[in-house]
Amino acid sequence: MPIRLLPPDVAGKIAAGEVVERPASVVKELVENSIDAGAAEVRVEIREGGQRLIRVGDNGRGIPEDEVALAFARHATSKLTDVSDLDQIETLGFRGEALASIAAVSQVTLLSRPREQAVGQHLRVEGGQVVRQEGRGSPAGTVVTVEHLFRNVPARLKFLRQPQTEAGHIHSIVTNYALAYPGIRFSLTSDERLVFQSSGNGQLYDVLIAIYGLDLAEQLLEIEGAGNGQETEASHPAVAVSGFVSTPALHRANRRYITLFVNRRWIQDNSLSHAVAQAYHGMLPVGRHPLAVVLLDMDPTEVDVNVHPTKREVRFRNGRLVFGAVQRAVRRTLVEQAPVPSLGQRPQSWIVPDQFAAARDWQRRQALMAAGRDAAGRDAADDAQLALELRRAQGELQPVGPVRLPLLRVVGQVGQTYVVAEGPQGMYLIDQHAAHERVLYERMLADHNEQEVTSQTLLEPATLDLDPMLSGVLGEHLASLNRVGFALEPFGRSSYLLRAIPSILAAQGAMAGSDAREIMVDILEMLQQGDDPLADRAEERLIAAVCKRAAVKAGQTLSAEEMQQLVRQLEQCESPRTCPHGRPTVLHFSAQQLEKEFGRR
Ligand code: ADP
Ligand code: MG
Repeated sequence: MPIRLLPPDVAGKIAAGEVVERPASVVKELVENSIDAGAAEVRVEIREGGQRLIRVGDNGRGIPEDEVALAFARHATSKLTDVSDLDQIETLGFRGEALASIAAVSQVTLLSRPREQAVGQHLRVEGGQVVRQEGRGSPAGTVVTVEHLFRNVPARLKFLRQPQTEAGHIHSIVTNYALAYPGIRFSLTSDERLVFQSSGNGQLYDVLIAIYGLDLAEQLLEIEGAGNGQETEASHPAVAVSGFVSTPALHRANRRYITLFVNRRWIQDNSLSHAVAQAYHGMLPVGRHPLAVVLLDMDPTEVDVNVHPTKREVRFRNGRLVFGAVQRAVRRTLVEQAPVPSLGQRPQSWIVPDQFAAARDWQRRQALMAAGRDAAGRDAADDAQLALELRRAQGELQPVGPVRLPLLRVVGQVGQTYVVAEGPQGMYLIDQHAAHERVLYERMLADHNEQEVTSQTLLEPATLDLDPMLSGVLGEHLASLNRVGFALEPFGRSSYLLRAIPSILAAQGAMAGSDAREIMVDILEMLQQGDDPLADRAEERLIAAVCKRAAVKAGQTLSAEEMQQLVRQLEQCESPRTCPHGRPTVLHFSAQQLEKEFGRR
């Protein structure tokens, strides 16, 4: 094909793709515009997860009559004039792309009136072209309505998830901005139902209550000392850190509860999330994450926000300094305010019911009888013979089928996390959690394939009032959840009733001390984490999530008997060497390796 310039509407749609990925991106851009316009109130309304309609209204400064049409031109902005302004951006928008991009992939209506103008302007934009403009009575401020998003971009439309899921993403966007701007009153209405509202009274803590509820908000600690201490060395710019973090007793199965803002811009930054998580080092169980809302304030020249079209990522001039400031501020807060951390070591029996146990017990008694003694009355002389008999009896119990781990002898436990064992080829270190996950996973998958998964009915059904994101995840997986042993049914508009859970969860004592509701939330969070499009593997993922929740945790003391049992069960697995998520269950140190390390040869 010869080189040709793309027709403007095609070029427009391609450029739009960078800014507008999904309905939540539209909401983000419109809300940012309202904030930049100095609004004290921002109302967001969506229908069908935003695909049918998104409307964002504000009481900000409005757009003057002679500029409304220009606002839809690409690279049209009132926020930048020359390139030097890029170094110190104090508005959320600056690229002048959002309205143009949104208009390229939807039908847009805009109604706007600056306070000092008598009438507002009403504008209709289709396929990026202004098709109508007229004066119209209007309250001061701006209302942008976006309809039929992506109707003219079928490729995009295909990738949209269910309306509930998209609504969940929009909910996150709106609540995040409410956190960053406690002085602005936000509301979100989804399919004519008010799902979120902040008061706009300026108190971050009140926004946290509106989002997470009072129970949870009470477990949050306010970050102390806004970094005016050691961070403010003459040569370094100050990084002020504020916000709230969870006490170590409150933790989540995924990282999306770490929310970060730089100069009140919501950003995603793995390194800073990591800085927050690191501050909890040694305080949280393995694989759990804190909940945190962390706001950084710094000189705008120290941060480049023009890295990505969606402005989601930023680049710091001195990343290490920022990382350190966050980590120290969070750590200080935890150390000074948090109650002594305890890694819940509730006694619980987590052993998988062993189908061989009964038979083994019977044979053990046979062996004892063969030794001519009962267990209590035996003397040392008989012990050797007894041991021989026992070994023989147990030998007969070897499972049929492939044994891909050698027979191991348990030596002990290290750090309440690893089981040390000895085998014919040296030493083996077994991760108790990963190993147990594998054991449970194979068992549950086998039951599932035979349609024999059993459920445990709860004494009282639990009502699940979920945030829109999780309720979206649940809605999407409802059928699968019910197939793997949960009994869930819709209960009102966004609630569900949980009547039963897979027996494997009940049998493992995962229930001790935590209720079915918490378990359910953990599992939904695990599902939400991976955006795995492989529908046919959805149930396997679900089963893996259930087993992860049910498995014995790191940090739990195991008896010799429990360790032996776990190792036996692992030996019987089809793929004993990795957990269902692919992490190793066993590390092997060969006898040769050990000899070499000790300089024996
Ligand atoms: P940017 O925000 O990067 O400037 P946009 O395409 O989002 O680009 O908006 C273009 C311009 O339209 C803005 O610079 C602003 O002047 C105006 N505008 C958009 N939304 C609003 C609003 N809600 N209130 C006032 N002005 C607005
Ligand atoms: Mg903008």
